[in-house]
Amino acid sequence: MEKISLKINSKSALEEKVLDWDVVQRSFEKSFGSEIYSSWLRNISLVKEYNDHVVLGVKTRFFRDWITSRYADKILNELKKYKLSINRIEFKIEPENIKNKNLFLGTKINKITDIKESVLNYNRLHPKLNFENFIVGKSNNLGFLSAKKICSHLSSYNPLFIYGGVGLGKTHLLNAIGLELSKDHKVMFISAERFMYQFIKSIKKNEMVNFKDFFTKANVFIIDDIQFIRGKEGLQEEFFHTFNTLFDKSSQIIISSDRAPNKLDRVQDRIKSRLSGGLVVDIAPPDYDLKLKILEKQIQDYQTSFKESPDLQEEVINYIAKNSNSNIRELIGVFNRVVAFGKMSRKPLNVNDCKIILRDIYNSNKIITIDKIQNITSSFFSITLSDMLSPRRSRPLARPRQVAMYLAKKLTPRSLPEIGRKFSNRDHTTVIHAVKTIEKLLENNDELRKNVEELKSLILSD
Ligand code: ADP
Ligand code: MG
Repeated sequence: MEKISLKINSKSALEEKVLDWDVVQRSFEKSFGSEIYSSWLRNISLVKEYNDHVVLGVKTRFFRDWITSRYADKILNELKKYKLSINRIEFKIEPENIKNKNLFLGTKINKITDIKESVLNYNRLHPKLNFENFIVGKSNNLGFLSAKKICSHLSSYNPLFIYGGVGLGKTHLLNAIGLELSKDHKVMFISAERFMYQFIKSIKKNEMVNFKDFFTKANVFIIDDIQFIRGKEGLQEEFFHTFNTLFDKSSQIIISSDRAPNKLDRVQDRIKSRLSGGLVVDIAPPDYDLKLKILEKQIQDYQTSFKESPDLQEEVINYIAKNSNSNIRELIGVFNRVVAFGKMSRKPLNVNDCKIILRDIYNSNKIITIDKIQNITSSFFSITLSDMLSPRRSRPLARPRQVAMYLAKKLTPRSLPEIGRKFSNRDHTTVIHAVKTIEKLLENNDELRKNVEELKSLILSD
C-alpha cells in the first residue's frame, strides 16, 4: 500500500505564537452570538499553536463532534483573521476539565483527533468513512454503485463525477473509494481548497515543478469539493493541466461537487466539458427510510462503543427522522445531541423533550414568547390572563402562575428578572421560588406532571 503524503513544506510544524486566546474568544462570541458561544465555544481552550495549525482542547467527544460538524469552518475563518497562516484545526479531548464527567458521552480519552469535516484537511483518508459504513438508500444508490464499480473496474468511467448538496455523503463516498483503491494503487485524495493552498505555496516557494510532479504521480486522483475553483482563474489553469496529465496516463479521476458540472458558473467551459466526460451521478437528500436506517446504524455504533443502548423511544427516533432537514451530517449531530441530553436527564426522553432540545435547529423561525406561554397556560387552567397576572395568591391562581413562570424559564432564553417583569413586575426571587416549587412538585405529583407535559406540547406546536 503506497500513499502520497502531502509534505511540501516541512517548516510548517514550527511553533509561532501569535494568538491571544481571550481576544479570539471575544470574537467567537461576537460572530457566533452569545447563545452558541456559551453553549459550545466558551470552554474551548488553546492547547498548542503552530504556524499552520492549532490544537484546541474540548471537554468531551460529543463536544468535539458537535463543534466539528457545525462550527469548524467558521472557527477556522475566525482564527485566520488573527493568523492567516492557520489552515487546520485539531481537537484534543481534555476530560480532566470536566466537572460532571458522566453527563456526556465522551468520557473515553481520545488522542488528538483531526477535524473530519473541515474542507482543509483531506490529505489523509479516514478509516471509518468506508463502504461498509455507508448506508444505501434510494437517494444515494447510484452514487454508491458507481463508486463500487470504479473500485472493481478501474477506468470504467473517467472521470467519475459525484455531486449533491451539503452533508449528503459525497466526502464519505470519495473517502471510501480512496480507502479501497489505496490497497493496490497510489491514491491522492485532496480537497480543491487544499489543492489551491499547495498550489499557492509552491508558487511562492518557486516549487512548481515539484508541485506538478507530486500531483501527477497518482494512479488515482480524488478531488473533493471542486466547486471551490469557481472564479479562480489561476487555479483552474493549473487544475486543467493536472487533469489532462493524469487523464492522458489513464489515471482514474474522481471528483465531487455541490452542483452538476454544467452548473459550475465561473468555471472555464473546457474544464466543465472534461468534468462531464465520464460518468456524472448525483446524490439526493435522503428519504425517511434512509434517515431511519442511518439512525439505526448510529444506535448500533453507540452500543458497540459504550456497551449500552442509548435510551431512545421509537417515537423519538421517528420524530428526528421526520423533522431532520435532509442533511445526513445534521441528522447525526441531532442524534448525538438527543442522546447526550438523555444521559444528562437520566430518564428516557419523549418527543416534547426533543422539541425543546432541538428547538434551535428544527424551529429556528418559531419563537416561543412569554406572552404565548401565559396565554396558553391561563386558558389551559381556565382562568383569565389578568387573574393569572394579578397579585392574588389563592392556590387556583398561584399554581398556574407558577407553572407559567416555570415554563417561561424552561422554554425561553429569558432571564429570571425579565420573566419577573412580564409577570406584573414581580421580583426575580419570586420566579426562582416558582421554578423550584414546580420542579419539586413534578417529582411526585403525577397530575401536575401530566398537565405540564400537555402544556409544553401545546406551546411547542402552537
Ligand atoms: P458531504 O461531503 O456531501 O457534505 P459527508 O460525506 O461529509 O457529506 O457526510 C456528512 C456526514 O454524514 C459524515 O459523517 C458521513 O459519514 C455521514 N453520512 C453521509 N451519508 C451517509 C450514509 N449514506 N451512510 C452513513 N453515513 C453517512
Ligand atoms: Mg464534503
